[in-house]
Amino acid sequence: YIREYSERTPGSRVMYQRAVKVMPGGVSHNMRYFAPYPIYIKETAGSKIKDLDGNEYIDLWMGHYTHILGHQPEAIAGMVREAVNRGTHWGFVNHYQVELAEKISQIVPCAEMMKFGVSGTEATMYAVRLARAYTGRKTILKARGGWHGANSELSKAVHEPMDVPESAGILPQAVQYTETFSYNDLEGTIAAIRKAGDDLAGIIIEGVGQLFIPPKPGYLETVRNEIQKAGALFILDEVITGLRLSLQGVQGRFNVKPDLCTMGKVLGGGMNISLVAGKKEILGLASPTSGLPKGQGVLMGGGTFSCMPLAMLASLAMVGHLEANAAAIYPALEKKGRRVREGMEKAMHATGINAKCTGIGSLFTVCFPKDDTALNNIEAVESSTDVKKRDQEFRIRMMNKGIYTVYGGGALSMAHTDEDIDRIINAAGETGREMAAKL
Ligand code: PMP
Repeated sequence: YIREYSERTPGSRVMYQRAVKVMPGGVSHNMRYFAPYPIYIKETAGSKIKDLDGNEYIDLWMGHYTHILGHQPEAIAGMVREAVNRGTHWGFVNHYQVELAEKISQIVPCAEMMKFGVSGTEATMYAVRLARAYTGRKTILKARGGWHGANSELSKAVHEPMDVPESAGILPQAVQYTETFSYNDLEGTIAAIRKAGDDLAGIIIEGVGQLFIPPKPGYLETVRNEIQKAGALFILDEVITGLRLSLQGVQGRFNVKPDLCTMGKVLGGGMNISLVAGKKEILGLASPTSGLPKGQGVLMGGGTFSCMPLAMLASLAMVGHLEANAAAIYPALEKKGRRVREGMEKAMHATGINAKCTGIGSLFTVCFPKDDTALNNIEAVESSTDVKKRDQEFRIRMMNKGIYTVYGGGALSMAHTDEDIDRIINAAGETGREMAAKL
């Protein structure tokens, strides 16, 4: 299957050979690399992408789970074209940012106030900073396997080995006060909260675990209550789930209200926007008029490109569209997600391959669990290298059939048609047959 891949993608291979001479590994974001080399994309529209060799794929990566309406939806593209004429980047406060903040505070339950930034990484970095400043404590809890961006203090316990920083150049001291817990393990999570004791500043958690495993009933609510009792902050990382799992994200879907939330991805309408939102008294620490002495006020703000009008207008168009059409969009995404998950799992099982299709709403992952034990969190899946090799094999075999997955799955958008979904399910069945027969 690797040979088939190479034969279909000579243009990408040549581009990769050029890339590695000027970029380490040929990529900027490391996770965009995969063996033997990634395809280079030249065109996108709706649910489809086209590579340099003219191969078309149904895209399930959708801009890192960003494009909930598909690539270049007209609802946003028109606004972006108009915005370009007004000036992409001003570096001034502008009325668009006020309108966007007003709209988000109407929609997102915890969002009394917010500050905008340009990446999810930045948002989670600021959220941690706010939690420590507000509580005057140090320890932050994060899930093993949880990814909240590349910021130093949360760059721990993403992959094995779990207890060292993810990168050289991050001091062990930077993660000294980052402790971990297992997502969906209520007893273990509560034990971690108790262990941190009165040094616990907050927990940062995604409403949906790695592999998009949904929370067990009551898990998020109970953790939220325990955190409150501990006098710490509950930070919901809604970078993926915000505006995706429902208009109000996980907050709307599971009726859990955090002290702070972070958002990005869908929010930007294809532009790079993130935000940290939450209670007034917490966000107030980051006001230039707080009068707090240095060391008590919180520095945050998104830097040079924060609130650039181009991005604010794209976001306003996206949020406005989702709000106006929520009653149609979210049930439709739910239906597409359910069809894909059930269809892929059934098609793979029919071939004798023990694959599991986890996920919720429009998000899904195909994984190959070690055994048949319940899939509660990523630890049930990740630790075997054989499993990782299978993920890789699944991806390339699916690409050979014109389906672009990441981690065996991805995110569906409004642009994915019933026909696309049939093709995805058929490709999964065929891939399962090939893997079972080791073609
Ligand atoms: N939080 C979560 C839950 C994410 O999935 C990501 C990125 N995948 C981030 C934060 C970081 O966002 P960004 O890549 O925009 O820095």
